[in-house]
Amino acid sequence: MIDSRVPVPVPTNEPIKNYARGSTERRSLEAVLNTQLQSEIEIPLRIGGRNVETGVLSDVRAPHDHSNVLGRYHNADATHAEQAIVAAREAWHDWSSTPWEARAAVFLKAAELLAGPYRDVVNAATMHGQSKTVFQAEIDAACELIDFFRFNVQYMQQIYAVQPESSPGIWNYQEYRPLEGFVFAVTPFNFTSIAANLPTAPALMGNTVVWKPSERSMYSAHFIMELLEAAGLPPGVINMVTGETPKAVGDVLLNSPELAGIHFTGSTRTFQMMWRHVGANIENYRSYPRVVGETGGKDFVFAHPSADTGGLSTALLRGAFEYQGQKCSAASRAYIPASIWDETIERLTADVAQIRMGSPMDFSNFMCAVIDQRAFASISSYIELAKDSNDHEIIAGGGHDDSEGYFIEPTVIVASEPDSRLMIEEIFGPVLTLYKYEDDRLDETLALCDTATAYGLTGAIFCRDRAEIVRLSRRLRNAAGNFYINDKPTGAVVGQQPFGGGRASGTNDKAGSLWNLIRWASPRSIKETFVPPTDFRYPHMD
Ligand code: NAD
Repeated sequence: MIDSRVPVPVPTNEPIKNYARGSTERRSLEAVLNTQLQSEIEIPLRIGGRNVETGVLSDVRAPHDHSNVLGRYHNADATHAEQAIVAAREAWHDWSSTPWEARAAVFLKAAELLAGPYRDVVNAATMHGQSKTVFQAEIDAACELIDFFRFNVQYMQQIYAVQPESSPGIWNYQEYRPLEGFVFAVTPFNFTSIAANLPTAPALMGNTVVWKPSERSMYSAHFIMELLEAAGLPPGVINMVTGETPKAVGDVLLNSPELAGIHFTGSTRTFQMMWRHVGANIENYRSYPRVVGETGGKDFVFAHPSADTGGLSTALLRGAFEYQGQKCSAASRAYIPASIWDETIERLTADVAQIRMGSPMDFSNFMCAVIDQRAFASISSYIELAKDSNDHEIIAGGGHDDSEGYFIEPTVIVASEPDSRLMIEEIFGPVLTLYKYEDDRLDETLALCDTATAYGLTGAIFCRDRAEIVRLSRRLRNAAGNFYINDKPTGAVVGQQPFGGGRASGTNDKAGSLWNLIRWASPRSIKETFVPPTDFRYPHMD
């Protein structure tokens, strides 16, 4: 853009506001929460910078008060998916050749808008639409997303600085081209920051995108789109197609010869379906689509006999029940040695009994509702399974009630068998299953922890013995892509703990890192010879 090597602003993590009673930030947020409650909005598709209204509408309801309609969104069908592909194609020429500083400026501005005038709007939308407490909304929709925007710009610059050697008379360098075609970003309901990061990371690298937000988080998705456009994102760079029936739009996008990449976060099942679809269609694409997906988890906490029970029980509670356990990283199974079992259980159940649950509008609540009826039914079925079996004992919670909102009590279950379905399947709700092991069976329990599930996302150990920390870390080396020592397995921070896991949990490309951004670039190696040879013969031929 200008004749200069432009450094980007050095990113730092966005400070978390505390919304204490009487604080200015709390007053300001409450005002926006009330305004949003009083105005039902209509959410169009955004294709090529235009509103597209299909007339086929679905309700957006607050999970904690399902009689409360926050708005209605328009459902896309196959024709809208086609339109989005065309819009992405038309925007590609200009955007893919826009100087990187100009692209960076759009997302740096989005960060500032979100840190300022949009903070309350996006936080409030996440609280109403996804039933997050103020703290859970703030660390997700505000802080993590601001961090994604700021840090990704720095990572992009670091990638561009990676250059090959040159030799005498020859100049070598590499350019990092955007992919040819569009990137299909498919996002989950549970994090507003992930929903925004998945389309924006490829767009920052010069790609154009078709974004299909989750039908279960349309309210915040609408405001994210508004924020990006306010930051100056040109029409057609990110096209938002929405729909209650994802397959209707998904199939068109996956079948397109122009599909250059998939940026997915969601369940393992959906990702595997997409990968199969791409595999079956591989001869029809113009290039091999980059397939990046972060998927499910069955995240563990493994306690060593030397563990501090205070830290352990707090990590179990926060790790399992914050945001109603609807985090891919949520603590969902724990292995606790007999020698510290009673003390841990006593602390944990006493703390769980103090958890307040209800609407996010009441700031004293620690938990709110699960996302919808489908999630409520699925999570409750695991609790009922435990109630109906002799191999499980419910030691806290177990109640669930969907009469007003989709509320499920924080539930702690003891499984007598380590291969119980509750110990190995992702439940994605406020259910923590514990397994008690005899201290002298530490090694075989470690092996169980490592191999019991198909996943490999997050895990934590609690241990005070340094030599044992080393041994446990080594033994569980492949069990988690994000591994915590004496901390809960949730709460990864951009720039500090790059996030992602292996095995059935994903491609482990670490969202919000250089490793992820490189997937959205196709390097071109360039060699220039200043004085080309003019004689074809080599010296050995004389
Ligand atoms: P989901 O798989 O039900 O949906 C994810 C997205 O896929 C949604 O946008 C959905 O509409 C879309 N989708 C579903 N079928 C489709 C189709 N046929 N074509 C196109 N799109 C389709 O997941 P969810 O319930 O929204 O999210 C919860 C899951 O996400 C959990 O398994 C959780 O572990 C996982 N998750 C993982 C991470 C991570 O970083 N590993 C982070 C957040 C969530």
